[in-house]
Amino acid sequence: MAEEFLINQSLIKDLLKYEKDELCGLVFTNKWIYKNFGKSSLANNLGHYFEYLTTGSLPKGGHIPVADNTKPYEVLGKQAEYFNYLFDKKGITITNNGLDIVADNKWIGTLDILAEWKDIFDTDENVVLDPSNTDYKVIIDLKYSGLLEDKFSEFGWHENSLPYNEKTLLQATHYKFLYWKNYGINIPFFFFVFDSKKPKLAKLIHININEYHLEQHEKFLHKAKAYFDNQLKLGFAPKPAYSRCVDCDYVDMCLFKEDIPPMIHINL
Ligand code: SF4
Repeated sequence: MAEEFLINQSLIKDLLKYEKDELCGLVFTNKWIYKNFGKSSLANNLGHYFEYLTTGSLPKGGHIPVADNTKPYEVLGKQAEYFNYLFDKKGITITNNGLDIVADNKWIGTLDILAEWKDIFDTDENVVLDPSNTDYKVIIDLKYSGLLEDKFSEFGWHENSLPYNEKTLLQATHYKFLYWKNYGINIPFFFFVFDSKKPKLAKLIHININEYHLEQHEKFLHKAKAYFDNQLKLGFAPKPAYSRCVDCDYVDMCLFKEDIPPMIHINL
């Protein structure tokens, strides 16, 4: 049974959360074993629509995202125009959208954008060209966020906190690793983060990862897979917690839920 699973970076992030008791095993099982991805938040819907409008890519499940006439979607339309302006100005040519890469028949990921970007190697000395990268390929991951200057949220994009944001760096490492493993080339990785509140505001972030870190990532993946396979045999345990259960999609039918707030004691 375990061999049927291809491991992606979102599954690994959830696995780490489960191991740290930050995610309930029943939620993990529903999502990753039964593929019930649950309700989408407004932030997720906006992200999906932005990606659809700019690259034509569809979210998991293949449904076409829809917009409405509210302010967030009005801003989004302007940011999609800015996306085209930016790519044109920077001389970026998109070669693939939503490219699935499978490495070693175990690891998987979907690249938002694979592009040719010769100018970046000519103009930015921090972006190093692998001699085998003769087509000037780069990976670009699109983000649509209202947290461009947030230092404290795990979803924040402030440059001072990014080097410590394990989850964001895991995504960048995993995508670079997949390309490197499959094609033998270490190509640059960028997050292009578009502000969801202010049109024409974006951040372009280069995540520089060398081959040593890609090798370390491979070792980490093998450990994560061993843990996953073992948990599949044991079963993922319920990990109820009031703060999680009140927001949980399965709360109405769950036998393990904690839906009464715990007492908080303040001693003076
Ligand atoms: S209600 Fe709580 S215990 Fe039940 S599945 Fe959700 S998070 Fe887990």
